[in-house]
Amino acid sequence: MPPPVFRFAPSPNGFLHLGHAYSALLNFESARRSDGRFLLRIEDIDTTRCRPDYEAAIYEDLGWLGIAWETPVRRQSEHLADYRAVLDRLSALGLLYPSFESRAEIARLVAERETRGAWPRDPDGAPLYPGTAKSLSIGERERLLRSGDPYALRLDMAAAIRVAGDLTWTERGLGPDGETGEVTAQPATWGDVILARKETPTSYHLSVAIDDALQGVTDVVRGQDLFWSTSVHRLLQKILDLPQPVYRHHDLVRDDAGAKLAKSSRATGLRELRVAGTTPDDIRRRIGLP
Ligand code: GLU
Repeated sequence: MPPPVFRFAPSPNGFLHLGHAYSALLNFESARRSDGRFLLRIEDIDTTRCRPDYEAAIYEDLGWLGIAWETPVRRQSEHLADYRAVLDRLSALGLLYPSFESRAEIARLVAERETRGAWPRDPDGAPLYPGTAKSLSIGERERLLRSGDPYALRLDMAAAIRVAGDLTWTERGLGPDGETGEVTAQPATWGDVILARKETPTSYHLSVAIDDALQGVTDVVRGQDLFWSTSVHRLLQKILDLPQPVYRHHDLVRDDAGAKLAKSSRATGLRELRVAGTTPDDIRRRIGLP
């Protein structure tokens, strides 16, 4: 049996906090206990928010916690060609379409629909894309593409579900409502998700699904806030014929008021805690690890 493969996949768009320490340590120690491999992956596709100093801090903070990872580290920004190739496959299957609306326009379209009753929201609470660009005529779509305006490539969710059929995943942790075991994927709840933008040929969903497969990840251990994203990842895995890892979504570390931690909060940032004299053992105690 090949060894299990775990990964911690932070985005360098802020400094790591106690929640990241928890997730990284769970992965690292699960790998060690099972004679498995532990990978670190830098999810730096959002060039407007990711910064080299945040990336350097990730290596420093994880090293301070006593975590060691295999090298070279996969940095998503260096692999845009991989994502582009998969987009071409999805496009050849007729599962993508360009949408040209700005965020403000989408908000207006949604508000218009909401005058006629509640408009559905995705599991993160964002309104579903109303699908307006799907019904553009071929001529109009060509004209907009030629105009050089920015656009997003969206997954035609209904078509993708027709291709993939019903899906489940194996959950060894817990969903927000206690879901565990064989969980039924519900990709339709996300609507026509963005898989790429004109300037960035990938998205969180696409690059995670591709990278977990390319890196042979067998066990995805991550925060419960990403539980329902797994629906989209399973859908892409099925359509692209990628292997399916098992999932363990863990509870989130919260602040004293019970709120989810933010990368901007100084009280729970690993660097701030270190400077204030906190030790790695203190961190473990604070996040409830033995
Ligand atoms: N890069 C994502 C984040 O920082 C995590 C991705 C994942 O674990 O699937 O929230």
